[in-house]
Amino acid sequence: MKYKDFRNFRITRTCKEEFEDYQKYKPYLAKDFEHRCAYCNTLDSMIEPLYFTIDHYVPRDTFKEIDDTLDYNYNNLMYACPKCNLTKGTKYERK
Ligand SMILES: [Zn+2]
Repeated sequence: MKYKDFRNFRITRTCKEEFEDYQKYKPYLAKDFEHRCAYCNTLDSMIEPLYFTIDHYVPRDTFKEIDDTLDYNYNNLMYACPKCNLTKGTKYERK
């Protein structure tokens, strides 16, 4: 996949459940992201025995006064390999 195409790639979020513990969304994220990291496209099975993580696209701590659902809002959750999640941290670019 070319970078240009990757940018146009839309995640179809199929999860209709609502959890207050965002970790419970992990199997749904794995499916919706086709077992690939949202940032580097690595397959989750390629990094075994390490586990993929759940990244909050909009950092929940920075913006929790504005939106306190960010922690468990499925639309804010990204399936990410541990490397990308660590690199990203709480950086957030406003568009
Ligand atoms: Zn990654």
